[in-house]
Formats: sequence, C-alpha cells, structure tokens
Amino acid sequence: MTVLKEARERWVRTGGVELCVAELGDPEQPTVVLVHGYPDSKEVWSEVAARLADRFHVVAYDVRGHGRSTAPQPLRGGFTLEKLTDDFLAVADAVSPDGPVHLVGHDWGSVQSWEFVTTARTEGRIASFTSLSGPSLDHFGHWIDRRLRRPTPRRVGQLLGQGARSWYVCLLHTPVLPELAWRGPLGRRWPRILERAEKVPGGGYPSSSLPRDAAHGAWLYRDNVRARLRRPRTDAYAHAPVQLITPLGDRFLSERLYDQLEEWVPRLTRRTLPTGHWAPRTRPDQLAAWITQFVTSVEGGGSPAPASGAYADRFGGQLVLVTGAGSGIGRATAFAFAESGARVVAVDRDAEAAVRTAERCRLSGAPEAWAETVDVSDEQAMEKLAEKVATEYGVVDVLVNNAGIGLSGSFFDTTAEDWKKVLDVNLWGVVHGCRLFGRRMSERGQGGHIVNVASAAAYQPSRALPAYCTSKAAVLMLSECLRAELAGQGIGVTAVCPGFVNTGITSTARFAGVDPAEERRRQQRAARLYGLRSYPPEKVADAVLRAVVRDEAVVAVTPEARVARVLSRLTPGALRAIARMRPPL
Ligand code: NAD
Repeated sequence: MTVLKEARERWVRTGGVELCVAELGDPEQPTVVLVHGYPDSKEVWSEVAARLADRFHVVAYDVRGHGRSTAPQPLRGGFTLEKLTDDFLAVADAVSPDGPVHLVGHDWGSVQSWEFVTTARTEGRIASFTSLSGPSLDHFGHWIDRRLRRPTPRRVGQLLGQGARSWYVCLLHTPVLPELAWRGPLGRRWPRILERAEKVPGGGYPSSSLPRDAAHGAWLYRDNVRARLRRPRTDAYAHAPVQLITPLGDRFLSERLYDQLEEWVPRLTRRTLPTGHWAPRTRPDQLAAWITQFVTSVEGGGSPAPASGAYADRFGGQLVLVTGAGSGIGRATAFAFAESGARVVAVDRDAEAAVRTAERCRLSGAPEAWAETVDVSDEQAMEKLAEKVATEYGVVDVLVNNAGIGLSGSFFDTTAEDWKKVLDVNLWGVVHGCRLFGRRMSERGQGGHIVNVASAAAYQPSRALPAYCTSKAAVLMLSECLRAELAGQGIGVTAVCPGFVNTGITSTARFAGVDPAEERRRQQRAARLYGLRSYPPEKVADAVLRAVVRDEAVVAVTPEARVARVLSRLTPGALRAIARMRPPL
C-alpha cells in the first residue's frame, strides 16, 4: 500500500507547477509511466507499480493540482490537454531522457494519455500506451457526432446509454458546487462509497489529498470536455501501439465507445476485464500481467496482438486449470482456453493423456501449459497440487472441475463400493477443487470463475442412473450454493449440464449388476449410440468459455439437455414418466 511513499522521488518543474514524481525499479529497464485519473493521485497505482517494479523502471506522477504536485494559478485554463502534454513530456525527459516510455493511463490519466499518443510533438517519446477506462475526447466527439448525424435506433440507444453514465460530467461543470461537495461530505464519504459500490479495498487508499485532488480535478472537465467534444481533432491517430483494457462493469463508460477504435489506432490490442471502474485497485495482478506482456512484446519488436481464439481479449494470459483434461470435454475445454491465449494446467489421473493435452495446448496458442497427474478424489493429492500450482504458476483465474466417471445400473444393483467410487470422483473431486483452488481465489480478492461440469442427469431422473444422477444433482446444488456465497467477491460459479456428448466416457463407464462380458457389450453399445448422436465435446467447450464470459449460473448444453431443463421446471411429471423407461442398452 505504501510502496509509492517508499519510492525514490524527484520534482519536475514545468509551466509554473512542480510535479511530484515517484520511481521504482531499475532505471536501466524499460520505463513504464503510470498516469492517474479523477479523483485520484498517483497512489491509485501503488498495487500495480509494486507488481511491475521487478521487471521495469516504474514511474508514477501526481498530475498538476493533485497529490503532492502544486496547482496552476489561476486554476481556470490551467488544466488544458496542451498543458498536461507539456507536463508529460517534462516527466518523460526527466526519467527517460534517452528512450521512449511505455505509457499507462487510468480514467483521466487515460484521457490525457490519448492526447499524448495522438499529437505529433510526442512522436518518438511513447513506445506503447495501455488505456484503461478513459477514452480520447476527440474519438468520443466523433463517436457522438456520427450517432447524431445518422441516428438509427441502435445508435440512439448507445448515445442514451453513455449519456446516462455521464451524469456526473454535467455536475462537474457547475461552478463551486463540486468543490464544496468534495471538501465537505462527499470527500469524507468517498472511501466508503468506493468500498461499497466499487468493491475497492480500503486501507490507506484513497490518500488524504482526495478533497483537494477532486476539487482541482473538476477543471480537467471544465477546461477540456465541452471544447473538444464540440470540435474534435480530425487527426487524432495513435502513433504507438495501444492496448485497450475495458472493464465490463464500468458504470461510467459504455463498452460501445470503443467500437470503431481500429480506425484511429492501427496497432490495437483489446482486453476485457470483469470488474468495475477502479481496476488498478480491484485487479492489480491482471493489469500488471497484461502490461508486462504488452510492454515486453513491444520491446521485443514482436506483435502485441493477442491469441486468435474466441474471447482472447478476456482469457489471454489468464491461468486456467482443467481437471479430466486428458480426454473428451476436459481436453476440448483446455484447447479452447489455449486458443484464447490462456495459460493452462491440464490435470488428469492419466499421466500420458495429460501430457498430450498440455503439449497440444502449447501448439494451439497457450503461452505456457503444464500437465499434472492427480486423482481428483484424493484429498491429499489435490492439496499438494493446489500448493504446487499456487507457488509455481500462480492463483488460478478459471477453474474447471470436469473430471467425472459414468456408472449405470439399478439402485439395488449398485453396491456401496460403486456409490463410493462415483461420489468420490464426481462429487468429492469437485468439492476438493472448489475448496482448494476457490479458497485461494477468494483470498486473493481479485475475482475469478469456477465451472463445475455436472450433467443433464442433475435434473433428469433415471431408473438406470441413480448414483450418477445423485452425484450430478449434488454438483448442481453445490454450484448454486457456492455461487451465492462468492457473488460479492467477483467470483462466478457455473454448473454446466451437457446431454449426450460423443466422448470416451461410454467406454469407461461402469455397468453395475452385470458380468464383465455383458458390461463390455453395453459399453460398446453406448459408445455406438453416443457416436450416432455425434455431439462434439468442442461445442461443450465453447459453452464453457461463453458461460464464464457471461457469468451464467446454469448452462444446459445439447438440445436434449435444454428441453429436459425446461420440462424439469414446467412439467416435472413428464420427466418422471421418462425416468421410468428402461434404457435401450
Ligand atoms: P471422458 O471419459 O472422455 O473424460 C474424462 C476424463 O477425466 C478422462 O481423461 C479421465 O482420465 C479423467 N478422470 C476420470 N476420473 C478421474 C479422476 N478421479 N481424477 C482425475 N481425472 C479423472 O469423459 P467426458 O465425457 O469428457 O466427461 C467429462 C465430464 O462431463 C464428466 O464429469 C462427465 O460426467 C460429464 N458429462 C459427460 C457427458 C457425456 O455425454 N460425455 C454428459 C454429461 C456430463
């Protein structure tokens, strides 16, 4: 929290103000300049700066009038984008005289950084720009203009949507009132508001300069917004690669603002993050990882474009662990995450299968992939795995508890041993995964997602599958309960319920109450029927990724699973009648 207070400090004089500049890390490394927003000071970056400091020369400065920097006199006209550009150039010249800097801006820090990266006089001084929650006023002006000129219902909806999010901008244009509010009750309550509404952890942030920062910062809006939106520059093209990180829960900015950004930014990398406006405080790990990846690739002269798979903007660089990844749905899910650029841990009790999956993940686009051999029903082995993953690879962002086994047979044919086996893997495996990896996710306090692969058998009873159906119903209920418990922490929980999917499960499923020859015959027949149904596991994998992105609670995959889900709610009697039918095996 106090990392910036302990940083090396220097003062930079420019245009009648003195800017307080904090530096961390080795000045020989590439310089990353962090610019804060409104109402903030450079302290907003302390968590991110601490994570970047072992790789980069990290610089954060208090914008004029904020934190410990002095304010221009008079205030009116002292905060124009031109003056802010002078300040940035003065800081860049002081901290990195010999080379360009990598710029990272949040909120108004990003708004002003767009100005820096699109004006000619900074050309050659900026190596890359990571933008977070702050559009270019010029791009925004054209965005509005385009919608007003050709107002289709969709475009009007987008305008109204952004208008509803911008109410505070009008308030900030009123004279004196914002200053009075910030120096009075709003300034006192702001930390609590941030904690409650934005889930920003307290403890030393925001800094004590907040009322002054917020009062001065109102001039950022007054000096720039109306003028630029009325007459946006037509040459606001970025002269450096840009990484745009869009928080999906931003209550001040609509995602649609960035729809045509490629027109202005030839080299654009998009990222999305399921959090609110203050991502530097709520998701510092993810931001630091993306900034590191982007800066490193630009420094290496490589392409900063993320992987090409679905949702690469969301999963690129995230750590995803999939159990039962050696075959079927788990394997397809591991590949889908790999194609999206995720780092994948492929877990299976079958060591060779896990290794094969990890190898293919690396070929498919995963920057890193590892194979781990574990029986998910073995609590101690799972504890060891969780420990190893945390120390060697990091906290898991997405956990997919997929490993499972099939068991068919009437209730009286199913032995206690059979029950134990299927519950150990299908239910306890999921419990262990949620407990061990979920706890670390929760303790980290930076969100995440857990997917538990249940089955349509969770809500569709069958006389032939009492143990399997029971295990999957338990997984479905566990997922719902855990989802309720973790809702306030930004951790989503999804139960995925496939119907008949063409995987190897049929040939390994146990058939209770029959001799081995008959069991073999039934396995083969089941495999044939599932083959004829021919629903590919890749489609389930797509549904898994989509469910994480949309944070869905329960996802029925395959048409029969969806129909059964509807029947289970509307006419459970129909499902009970189907449950009595003998299976065709
Ligand atoms: P699969 O047999 O093709 O793959 C399962 C994988 O899990 C295998 O690689 C296996 O080695 C691994 N595994 C099994 N027990 C394990 C354990 N104790 N520890 C670690 N790994 C273990 O099966 P699949 O069809 O891909 O099934 C995946 C999940 O989907 C299961 O939970 C299953 O119940 C569920 N499901 C499958 C279908 C279907 O029709 N295939 C339908 C609904 C639900």
